[in-house]
Amino acid sequence: MKNNNIFKKIINHEISSNIIYQDNLITAFYDINPKAPVHILLVPNIEISTMNEINNKHKNILTRLMTVAVKIAIKKKINKSGYRLVINCNKHGCQDVYHLHIHLLGGKPLGPFCT
Ligand code: 5GP
Repeated sequence: MKNNNIFKKIINHEISSNIIYQDNLITAFYDINPKAPVHILLVPNIEISTMNEINNKHKNILTRLMTVAVKIAIKKKINKSGYRLVINCNKHGCQDVYHLHIHLLGGKPLGPFCT
C-alpha cells in the first residue's frame, strides 16, 4: 500500500501534479505512470478509502465523478473511439492508493481487460 495521503496532497496542491479539473467535490489529474495514451484519475476531494465506504451520502460525488469523466473523454476526443472507467478495490482488485479513484483510460484499443 502506498502513502494513503498522496492524492489528498495533490487535491490540496501540496505536491506538484498535473491537475486538469477541480471543483468543490472532485479533482482530476494525469496518472504519474500512464497505462494508455489517456490515463486520468478522478478522485473525490474528501477522503473515501475504497468503494466499500460508499453510501447514499456520496451520490453527488459519484454523479460528479462520472459526468466529469465523460466531459474529459469528450475534451480528449476519445468519446467516440471509446474508453474504460476502472475502480480498483482492495487487494484482489489491485488497489494501490487508498483514496477512492476512477481511472479514465483511452486513446488506444485497451484489449479485453487491463488497468
Ligand atoms: P490503483 O492501483 O490504486 O487503482 O491506482 C493508483 C494509481 O495512482 C496508479 O495508476 C499510479 O500510477 C497512480 N499514482 C500513484 N502515485 C501517484 C502520484 O503521486 N501522482 C499521480 N499523478 N499518480 C499517482
